[in-house]
Amino acid sequence: MILQRRTQPLRTAKPVMTALCGALVALLMQAAAARAADCPRPGTLGTSRILVVDPAQYPRVGTKSFPQTLPLNDKEVVLTFDDGPAATTAAVLKALRDECTQATFFMVGKGAQQMPAMAKRVAADGHTLGHHTWSHRYLARIGFAAAKEEIDRGIAADNAALAGVPSRTPTAPFFRFPYFESTPELLDYVQSKHYAVFGADFWASDWEPMTPEQQLKLLTGRLEAIRKGILLLHDPRAQTAAMLPAFLRYLREHGYRVVHIVPPGTPGRRAAGSRD
Ligand SMILES: [Zn+2]
Repeated sequence: MILQRRTQPLRTAKPVMTALCGALVALLMQAAAARAADCPRPGTLGTSRILVVDPAQYPRVGTKSFPQTLPLNDKEVVLTFDDGPAATTAAVLKALRDECTQATFFMVGKGAQQMPAMAKRVAADGHTLGHHTWSHRYLARIGFAAAKEEIDRGIAADNAALAGVPSRTPTAPFFRFPYFESTPELLDYVQSKHYAVFGADFWASDWEPMTPEQQLKLLTGRLEAIRKGILLLHDPRAQTAAMLPAFLRYLREHGYRVVHIVPPGTPGRRAAGSRD
């Protein structure tokens, strides 16, 4: 009798777990929606405007790699984060939420497949999701066929991780090459898919180990010199996650404005945090 009694819960354990996971996801979604409802909020950085980036008009942007960049005004910054999702992405999302501002995350497909809940949180918070290949290899060194596979598999994995998540800004036709390493053939391939290739206008060099304080000093110094542009940061870097609240405060206190980029046809372009 005891055995029979014990087998009953075991047989039902899987459906119960599935139901619990579903309930948890629903709760997370509600929490994200509630947080978004707090924005825009006075005293925060916010998002000054939404910029629709059409890959046909802007096939390659970012002056570190290309002649052209996005049409930004003085003191306008586009925040971009590469290489996630990762555990530290949670702290990055919190910092962005605390300032009611929005960014673009260029995700690595393998990471998105391993951490789909984190990828979903990024989307649920209304950020734009771009792509950064399947496993972050040096695409110019592995041959065209393998590079093409890295690009396509990454995009598919990012989209699969987000399946079923309601988002105002679903995955965008925005792509960034790992290490900014491309070839003319690969650039043409990405353009033929109608994806915009993103370089950057400036960065924090956050792949170099340094304290958050050192990184903030380096980054704000570069910002004061360039005054506007597409900024590259890395959400898996703990030093960047630690620095971000102070950097966003710096932007707010020094009159900088954050521009949120979205692809054409994005429903409900007024993202959370938008003031325009
Ligand atoms: Zn990268």
